[in-house]
Amino acid sequence: MDIADLDIESLNREFEAQPPQEALRWAHETFGSRVAVMTSFQAAGVVIVDMAQRIAPGFPVFTLDTGFLFLETLDLKRRTEAHYGIEIDSVQPLLTVEAQAERYGDALYDRDPDMCCEMRKVEPQRRKLAELDAWVTGVRREQSKTRTEAHILERHEVEGRMLIKINPLVHWTKKQVWDYILGHEVPYNPLYDQGYASIGCWPCTRPVQAGEDERAGRWAGSNKTECGIHTFTKRAE
Ligand code: SF4
Repeated sequence: MDIADLDIESLNREFEAQPPQEALRWAHETFGSRVAVMTSFQAAGVVIVDMAQRIAPGFPVFTLDTGFLFLETLDLKRRTEAHYGIEIDSVQPLLTVEAQAERYGDALYDRDPDMCCEMRKVEPQRRKLAELDAWVTGVRREQSKTRTEAHILERHEVEGRMLIKINPLVHWTKKQVWDYILGHEVPYNPLYDQGYASIGCWPCTRPVQAGEDERAGRWAGSNKTECGIHTFTKRAE
């Protein structure tokens, strides 16, 4: 199957009118073991993992383990693996946290978060995507201004190769996500019950106040809004 031959526009028209599971089912049938769910165990991410495991038990899942994840997130990974009987691939950065501090100094996340994200998230993701033809994310349009143009299927160029990025929940609201989690008893991160609305690395995440944007607690106090994992690839229109 040649990715360049896929009629993304008409598939998107179909999937926009269908439940998100249809895009996941299509992904499994089209790409088999060459598609994986990428999750950081946030609310939409655990919904995607649940849907994927119900459609095709053992649907591959990976996460980017930056070395700065909350203990609650690491525990959720273990609980998710046990819940579905799967092993989630933890993709590691090339440098440990200690080795990075030795080479670039402590708290690089404060001094140069883009560089820190590049080494701890983007490079590992790039390496993982080299094994795949498609990946699935929990991106939703209403999450932030930078995500309003997202589509269910997107063609992306990664290292000179074309891949399909699949965002099955792109048109879902936060309420739909939480109705699904609670309705299906999906394991979720307890930090959501402590005021966090978007959960990444502990040095760069804080709870949000009422009325704030969902992602306002990420890199608070700086202009940074994305870590790069959804922006480093070149989207082919
Ligand atoms: S979110 Fe913060 S700690 Fe995590 S990789 Fe980016 S800058 Fe580093």
